[in-house]
Amino acid sequence: MWRFASSFHTHSAPLLLHKFPIDHNAPPRLENNIKKDIVQVSLPMNILSIETSCDETGISIIEAEGGLTRPSFEIHANTLTSQMKLHEKYGGVFPSLAKREHSKALMPLLEEALTHAKHFQNTETVLFETQKIADLFVREPELKQRFLKRINTLGIPPIDLIAVTTGPGLEPALWVGVNFARALSRVWKKPIVGVNHMEGHIASVLLEKEQPIINFNALALLISGGHTELVEVDAWGSYTLLGATRDDAVGEAFDKIGRLLGLPYPGGPEVSALAKIARQKNLPPIEPLPRPMLGSRDLDFSFSGLKTAVRYRIRDLKSNLSDTMRMQIARETEDAITQILIQKTEKALSERNIHSLIVAGGVIANTHIRDAFNRLVQKYPPLTLHTPSATLATDNALMIGAAGYLKYMRTGAEDPESLTATGTLEL
Ligand code: ADP
Ligand code: MG
Repeated sequence: MWRFASSFHTHSAPLLLHKFPIDHNAPPRLENNIKKDIVQVSLPMNILSIETSCDETGISIIEAEGGLTRPSFEIHANTLTSQMKLHEKYGGVFPSLAKREHSKALMPLLEEALTHAKHFQNTETVLFETQKIADLFVREPELKQRFLKRINTLGIPPIDLIAVTTGPGLEPALWVGVNFARALSRVWKKPIVGVNHMEGHIASVLLEKEQPIINFNALALLISGGHTELVEVDAWGSYTLLGATRDDAVGEAFDKIGRLLGLPYPGGPEVSALAKIARQKNLPPIEPLPRPMLGSRDLDFSFSGLKTAVRYRIRDLKSNLSDTMRMQIARETEDAITQILIQKTEKALSERNIHSLIVAGGVIANTHIRDAFNRLVQKYPPLTLHTPSATLATDNALMIGAAGYLKYMRTGAEDPESLTATGTLEL
């Protein structure tokens, strides 16, 4: 069911907040304990979200409600296009190429998203000053052209909020999304909120069909191509970094080892597939690879030593890297990574009073690692485990919409003029 609620929102201040699960048949609850002149209600809102932090361009439309206490989401459209194939030959993401591809992809994805979410089509005439929009795209001439050519045909869709990733990520790529969001905000006169990509990964678990209840304090392990972080979550928006990688991220380790084994980019799923065959065939284990920092007293990680060890193993084999050996190395790599992730997470759990464990980011698409976390939480009842499904684990715009809602609930809208991209943005 679709509801349009924008006229009820006060966009300058945070909305709130159901203290109890929502009764959908009841009228919206009014909060009395806040400034009298602003009536704040947690009504459903439609959020258009934009993700361009790395090599995926995504635009989605979700409907959010429940406030910070019981956030829930309905997906109306989800579009995503990956540049992975283009970056393959570099073995990583090439920033200027990423920027260009985002510029090409955004307008078609916006149209696709609006077409898919049928209720969002609208014929309201769009009025704006071309120059004011063109100014935003001085560095993205291709996007400017596409935007100005097509934006008039889209009307003003019933969107209540625009959410866009502002970091961390590749700054030139982030700017494309930010400028696109600012242009939409100007043309449609809609509020905007900047989203931390890592909060997006955390919020990705909220988009699962059976809407989960996260009990705080929660612990989030974020494992992606660019990040490996353990974060304590006291409440939505209250994050404490407990540990992080000192060198390579875990996804990066998978990708680099995949490359050493002669596998296509990204190596994570490829290494995992070979490891699975090694287990099915019951191949004998090889001499163990190192597990850097496994026993360290802190909650930091290190993966570059693992990659280097694989490099030496392969070098020592001269040119005798057989398919069997590839599978054995892949399996040992996956085992080493799994053990490190589990042990560090268990250490964090044992030191704190944690009620929910969130494991998010592209690497949790790995079923072996996922199974290991399922076994881990069974040791600590009533601890609950929350992971995104494989499509929500890797970068996408849906999770940016979900995190955008949580942020808007906390802080309200931001000034579109001063919204900036920050490559090193922290949680
Ligand atoms: P980022 O946001 O840093 O780009 P993503 O969240 O999109 O990262 O995740 C991409 C990373 O996830 C890549 O490094 C990829 O190899 C890894 N990955 C994806 N699927 C798997 C898998 N099944 N096993 C291991 N790693 C995986
Ligand atoms: Mg990615």
